[in-house]
Amino acid sequence: MTGAATGRTSGVSRRSLRMAVAGGSILTVLLLCAIAAPWVAPYDPAERVTTPFAKPSGAHWLGADDVGHDLLSQLIYGARVSLLIGVVAALAATVVGALVGVLAGYCRGSVDAILMRIVDVILTLPVLPLTIVIGVFMGPGLTTQILVISSVLWAGLARELRSQVLSLRERDYIHSLNSMGAPTWYVLRRHISRAVFPLIVPQFILAVKTAILLEASLAFLGLGDVTNASWGSMLALAQGRNAFLTDAWLWWILPPGLAIALTVLGFALIGNALEERSRPVLLRRKKIKRGDEGRAQSTADEPAGRADAPLVIENLTISYGEGRLGVRDVSLTLGVDEVVALVGESGSGKSTVAASTIGLLAPAAEIVGGAVRVCGQDVTRLPLRDLQALRGSRIALVPQEAMSALNPVRRIGDQLVESVLVHTSCTRDEARERSVDMLEKVGIDASRIDAYPHQLSGGMRQRVVIAMALVNEPAVLIADEPTSGLDVLMEEEILELLLTLRHSLGLSLLIVSHNLPIVERIADRIAVMKDGEIVEIGSVRAITTNPQHPYTRRLIDAVARLEPAAELQAAR
Ligand code: ADP
Ligand code: MG
Repeated sequence: MTGAATGRTSGVSRRSLRMAVAGGSILTVLLLCAIAAPWVAPYDPAERVTTPFAKPSGAHWLGADDVGHDLLSQLIYGARVSLLIGVVAALAATVVGALVGVLAGYCRGSVDAILMRIVDVILTLPVLPLTIVIGVFMGPGLTTQILVISSVLWAGLARELRSQVLSLRERDYIHSLNSMGAPTWYVLRRHISRAVFPLIVPQFILAVKTAILLEASLAFLGLGDVTNASWGSMLALAQGRNAFLTDAWLWWILPPGLAIALTVLGFALIGNALEERSRPVLLRRKKIKRGDEGRAQSTADEPAGRADAPLVIENLTISYGEGRLGVRDVSLTLGVDEVVALVGESGSGKSTVAASTIGLLAPAAEIVGGAVRVCGQDVTRLPLRDLQALRGSRIALVPQEAMSALNPVRRIGDQLVESVLVHTSCTRDEARERSVDMLEKVGIDASRIDAYPHQLSGGMRQRVVIAMALVNEPAVLIADEPTSGLDVLMEEEILELLLTLRHSLGLSLLIVSHNLPIVERIADRIAVMKDGEIVEIGSVRAITTNPQHPYTRRLIDAVARLEPAAELQAAR
């Protein structure tokens, strides 16, 4: 579902795709030259076939070096050495870097500390002087070059992957694997390594590019293999024989220089496209074309006074990597004092929309396009400090699980006071006063302020969570399935409470729910989500009596079959 609608092809912009094709063509030609060198090259590159310093001629297109070796043959054979060293060194660096990065990120603790200090040291050392020192110490040769290059390249890769693994291991599914007793090795092999692999491939390609450049530099400095001339050592020899002082640079220096530049360019073009593919955020925020097919969006239902609407979501598209879209092109405006319900099946993107409004998306999520304006500020672009100032004071979230939203070892009063103090500079006593006030507003007796979460019922805990969200009087409250863990009666009570609060506090409410009969009673408008898109949005009456989208019709029909009373309520 990514391709056409987002103007991308398998997660890569057209421009990058064209670049990758160009890069691939360059590399294919070079690779073919390297493989077919014995047949393509006119002479043996190590044989003296003509007079020293011969100029280009029909028999020797690029002339000869100082002892009469054919330069064209050297150039063609040189591709073998350059590519071989580049690929092998990059492979070694990638394997070591990936192992270290994954181990450090997954094991954390002292393993992480030790490995990352080593990485830090390597990263702070300047690459070229370091390669020269190691190279001189080990003596010239192919293996030296590979060892030297890979030993400076692995560290950057390790650091990159470590940060990815750190965020991966906090995912719920990894936690649940761990809680089932899955062995570390199993989790690493089956889940972590599969998730980081798409990141490793582009890193490898980019490492080849760097390795080829480093090889040329090392060879130029005389640390190359004397028996196997590479492009770098051709340059070194030409420089040593003063080719720059005569016309000879045209056929002796320019061709190997161009060959190096082209190879590096080829790998860079492919590597960048692959990297973009594995990390959709690199696509930048492009304006995404509206896919209008199958959409029955009634914009006429947008609330009045859009300009001062406390929450405006515009064309929001969020990807969970590898082209998996969480939500696509979602637009929604929440007016002052309005209640909008977001309904839809599980996995349709409701929570993703809810989390985006307070800038708390899962680490894997990337905002590919669009904006989320809370009281005029775009939370997708806000620096963290400003975002933190906004959260709780302008917009607040009531999470799904009341129990896990509360700290089990702290009294609810202390947690409420803490929420106040985060945003205001009042005294503890004043904060406590406000907390008591808020507790009473959500229907909890002030005497319970020193209770621990486990001493309260599920419904009361959810009330406390709502009190915490509202204690700083935000303009917008987002409730992501606020009643999912509660029984039916509790569910009604909590939703009634939200309605009461909405009137008494002048709140705008966005309620995520899959319980259509209940949202019909409390919402002004309903937005129906399916597969990451809002397929229909309109007033409760319009949606329940005249659904336009086939999915909405199915949803309404299902409710009507289950609960005939819903019809009556809809006609209120
Ligand atoms: P809902 O709340 O409607 O059930 P979500 O917003 O949680 O839906 O999920 C929307 C889509 O995004 C789903 O297809 C889900 O698989 C995907 N998704 C949600 N969270 C993550 C995550 N942390 N990592 C990867 N994919 C995710
Ligand atoms: Mg959800």
